[in-house]
Amino acid sequence: MLNCSYDNSMGNFCFIGKRGLVIGEGVSGRGAVFALEKSGAAADVFSGSSDEFLQFCENRLFRYDVIVVSPGVPLHHAIFSWAKLHNIPLYGELELGYRLFKGEIAAITGTNGKTTTTSLVGEMFKNAGLETIVGGNIGNAFSKCAVEEEAKFAVLETSSFQLETIIDFKPKVASILNISPDHLDYHGTMHRYAKAKLNIAKNQTKEDTLILSADDIDIGHLKDFSPKSKVLYFSSKRKVDGAYLHDDDIYFCGEKICSIKNIKLNGEHNLKNALAAVAMSGVFEIRKDVICYTLANFSTSPHRLSLVATIDGKNYFNDSKATNIASALSAANSMRDITCMIMGGSDKGYDFSEFFSSLPSHITDIVLIGETAKKIEQAGNEAGFYNFSIVSSIEDAVLQASQKSVKNVLLSPACASFDMFRDYTERGCAFEKSVLKLK
Ligand code: ADP
Repeated sequence: MLNCSYDNSMGNFCFIGKRGLVIGEGVSGRGAVFALEKSGAAADVFSGSSDEFLQFCENRLFRYDVIVVSPGVPLHHAIFSWAKLHNIPLYGELELGYRLFKGEIAAITGTNGKTTTTSLVGEMFKNAGLETIVGGNIGNAFSKCAVEEEAKFAVLETSSFQLETIIDFKPKVASILNISPDHLDYHGTMHRYAKAKLNIAKNQTKEDTLILSADDIDIGHLKDFSPKSKVLYFSSKRKVDGAYLHDDDIYFCGEKICSIKNIKLNGEHNLKNALAAVAMSGVFEIRKDVICYTLANFSTSPHRLSLVATIDGKNYFNDSKATNIASALSAANSMRDITCMIMGGSDKGYDFSEFFSSLPSHITDIVLIGETAKKIEQAGNEAGFYNFSIVSSIEDAVLQASQKSVKNVLLSPACASFDMFRDYTERGCAFEKSVLKLK
């Protein structure tokens, strides 16, 4: 009987001649299959419920040496107890990548801003001439990149789903950008969600660094949290040990890096992402001129608060990626003039009273779509906000919004998209198409 062996001399797991089972067929699952096969193992794939899994096992006469689980497979799925019962090592896909990768890791988590900050840090590394993988939750499975590329560094976007199953995963530098309610349908409580995020520092030692937001992490979440790593902070509000703003200039550990006028990204939230990126690159001793050059040239990925068009004097912004209350509020706060928002989608269990208690007064109208339309309207009415229209398609939402006396129209739904679209990208594209039809 083969067992997954640990090759101490290499510091890596040896999968040659082993048989792996991968749970999930998405980007992570396919990446794990690729990684196992490239590492000399055979790999089967399973995707299905606990009952289906138990049936699947009954028909297997051989033993698996390793199981790799995609993020989001719930911890109560039969696979976890089955692996334990049969004493088979089980890793999350991120953990598999960690065991196959030989370089240093910078890992980023948070409720919002992960993709933007990961891409920005990755760009800083690449502009500094460092061979770098940019992967993880961003859409490139880390395990696949780890066996495909000979990079010395990996900049990884890590989600709460990925972090909850880590065993040894240890980033040299980690950052938590913010923690606000999200994915509570999966994690159950805010405490468990925050705990999964804090897991990013679980294996760090005093040689490693953890960079925390000083502005957007509730102190309550840090109770009983005592990382062994060196802790730095970033803040757009005050001077901290780390990256901060002073007189519209960005500083890292007391040294001026550049003026905020130098940053191409828009919005206060992106300034925070930029500060986190400066701190991470600063710890890796990336040169100041490289950091400044990157900040001056970097723009966000699509569907993240991007201007689609200005038609008849109205600016239309696509922020379809805003799938929770905090991100929609940050987009609302980034608008500089009277704005009509388009919101709604599938219900992730949010209490929208939190949204209306912080909504800036320049949001004068809201057009609602999707499953949560009535719920949002009710929460708004209870908070004294009545300017709602409810429509049944994104096209009608754009038409309605185009008739309002506002300067900006902002799609920032604060909800997932699955009730009407495949994903946020399809929703954002449908919005852009409807906007361009107005021309
Ligand atoms: P993530 O990968 O964590 O979902 P993204 O960078 O893709 O983050 O941005 C998702 C949404 O959150 C976008 O709508 C964006 O405008 C908003 N956002 C980005 N950074 C932040 C932040 N630091 N705080 C709040 N909202 C943010």
